[in-house]
Amino acid sequence: MSPTFPTVRLRRLRQHPVIRDLIRETELNLGDLVHAIFIKEDKGEKNPISSMPGHYKIPLSKLDEEIEEIVGLGIKSIILFGIPDTKDKNGSNSFNDDGIIQKALHKIRTIAPDLFVITDVCLCQYTDHGHCGPLCDKHGRLDVHNDQTLDILSKQALSHVKAGSQMIAPSGMIDGMISVLRKTLDDAGFSHIPILSYSVKYWSAMYGPFGLAAEGAAKVGDRRTYQMDPANGNEAFREAELDVLEGADILMVKPAHTYLDIIYRIKQAHPHIPLCAYHTSGEFCMIKAASEKGWIDEKRAALEVLTSIKRAGADFIINYYTKEVARWMQEDSA
Ligand SMILES: [Zn+2]
Repeated sequence: MSPTFPTVRLRRLRQHPVIRDLIRETELNLGDLVHAIFIKEDKGEKNPISSMPGHYKIPLSKLDEEIEEIVGLGIKSIILFGIPDTKDKNGSNSFNDDGIIQKALHKIRTIAPDLFVITDVCLCQYTDHGHCGPLCDKHGRLDVHNDQTLDILSKQALSHVKAGSQMIAPSGMIDGMISVLRKTLDDAGFSHIPILSYSVKYWSAMYGPFGLAAEGAAKVGDRRTYQMDPANGNEAFREAELDVLEGADILMVKPAHTYLDIIYRIKQAHPHIPLCAYHTSGEFCMIKAASEKGWIDEKRAALEVLTSIKRAGADFIINYYTKEVARWMQEDSA
């Protein structure tokens, strides 16, 4: 008899579900997923987001139903994006204590005190030009005014945590953002609130559907000046390093699926710092659209992609598949 090689034996053994589970390296849990939701001011109905099937702009008046559904599905954490009624050049509605996110937070804290709520801290949904801060002219080129933006972001972050946000996620990659926000929170007595920094955010085509959803697509110029070149990997370390030094509690890589190498390398470089990956709207839509055409098995594809992101090194994933994953897991365990 010829000897059986361990790899061959393992492949056979894996067909037994118990052994398959015993030796499985990566397991995707619902607790690894953060559900992203968009909230709008006005009353009326939930507006389907045409570019993101299954997702809606949820009016405050319907937020209760939405939160009850989320909690009922066993989802443990959400990230909120606000779509304000009025926008201006400085995004001043972002720090209005009676603003969209602030009102939503008060509601959620009452309805679902155990749901963990993260809030996006950025101005692009609040500025009429769609950039992540007030604009200025830098040597004949349109750019975000760094210091003014930091001031406004501080007010926004503070107003979120006062309303009940449990973690702030500044997404603009503005220079010095993390240290300024950390100091603002500490000085105001919120030193326990962690900062999830969008440390490594690429200038990606994968944000397209989100831009339509959040009505935050840049109307003039683009965000190339403050987001990273997709061709660069090493640069990600400098960005992450800087955020760590400035006091970020959790790092993030965005997008996720097309940047698995970056996720892996950041985790290797900072093994003791939790890492989040953002599976973006564009990445979500690619699976969704292909499955709607009958070209791909949606459940298998989505679970495979999310598991790959975790396998690469992400501890948790902000994404648009959380509700579906919750339903699939319920079906599988029924
Ligand atoms: Zn932004």
